[in-house]
Amino acid sequence: MDTVLVADRVLVGDAGEVVEPSQPPAGVLIRDGRIAAVGTAAEVRARSVDAQELAFPGGTVLPGLVNSHVHLCGDLSREPFGTASSGDRDAIAALMRRNALSALRGGCTTVRDLGDSHGLAFTLRDAIAAGEVPGPRILAAGTPLTVPGGHCWFLGGEVEGRAAIADRIDHLAAAGADLIKVMAGGGQMTPTGPSMYSSQFDPADLAFVVERAAVHGLRVAGHAHATRTIIECVDAGVHTVEHCGWRTGPGKVELCDATAARMAEAGIAAGDTTPPQWRMLAEKIPFPEDFRLGDQLPWMRDHGVPILVGTDSGLPNAVFDRFPTSLELYTERGFDRAHVLALVTALAADTLGLADETGRVRPGLAADLLVVPGDPRDDLQALGRPQLVMARGRRFEG
Ligand SMILES: [Zn+2]
Repeated sequence: MDTVLVADRVLVGDAGEVVEPSQPPAGVLIRDGRIAAVGTAAEVRARSVDAQELAFPGGTVLPGLVNSHVHLCGDLSREPFGTASSGDRDAIAALMRRNALSALRGGCTTVRDLGDSHGLAFTLRDAIAAGEVPGPRILAAGTPLTVPGGHCWFLGGEVEGRAAIADRIDHLAAAGADLIKVMAGGGQMTPTGPSMYSSQFDPADLAFVVERAAVHGLRVAGHAHATRTIIECVDAGVHTVEHCGWRTGPGKVELCDATAARMAEAGIAAGDTTPPQWRMLAEKIPFPEDFRLGDQLPWMRDHGVPILVGTDSGLPNAVFDRFPTSLELYTERGFDRAHVLALVTALAADTLGLADETGRVRPGLAADLLVVPGDPRDDLQALGRPQLVMARGRRFEG
């Protein structure tokens, strides 16, 4: 049976594109999991004979949100990959299902998973796509490549030398990876490995990762906190630089204009990770006197660097269902709300290569939709009170 969603307005996804008829309300027709029509409620009703109608007076229909950096196998605790590295596949799978559900409940109809173990994100992705379990669309990188003893080595992705890199990427591709994740630099979750301020891979090996992934038509996400590592990622030709914090040491930040310009030119996106508890981190993390957490974001925007918004959910306290709280950092750093909405819908889909599938309320695309009270262009926190979440035309109940 068809479904018609009726609300005061439809935000298509791109900033400034809104269906707000002079004869309200607006409507969206959903058929077979896809958006079949968008227009006035009267227009879309006329396109169906047996539609079930769901009315949301005062509300807004918009595309489901895209969270571009999560770890579904993380358990939010201080040792977030304890379960993931335990080898207990049933426990890992159950944890991932719970987290996926939490993301969906929070309005995310697409998540990009940037690090699992045992390839279980592929299994979950396929089960969700087949309608066997509820959850968001998942883009999955599988187990990240890292150096021996390097960042997140315990997930099982250690490689050394070209042959091992090629072998690992070939296996990930065969297992169904949507992209390749490489720990180009160190990170905080692995105190025994290189620090977040240093690089892990030889730059030539990093370039080889990109080259090998390209053989399989796969893009590469490079994990890089440090300015030097970001530059090496850009040199290597990765497609996204994850975290992209431009750090050079504790309390030190070095924004490199030339590198940002190269990212803009090449379309290399910054995969920002702002967890919902960013206000607490802003107090805790040392920064230079003239720099606040997130100040790199408007700077990158002004350089034309594509920005993906993620939360690193799965890591300590970074819950999956409070994405709008992360978005507050953007508005507080001067982004306008319409731009933020586009960043987590249409622009994210464009950057992730999903524009033919999701990210906009447009006929032909998957019915990945959200209905929220009021107009989120006036108050982004409305996103945190969804009245309806629909993924691939399936209404989320629960
Ligand atoms: Zn991460």
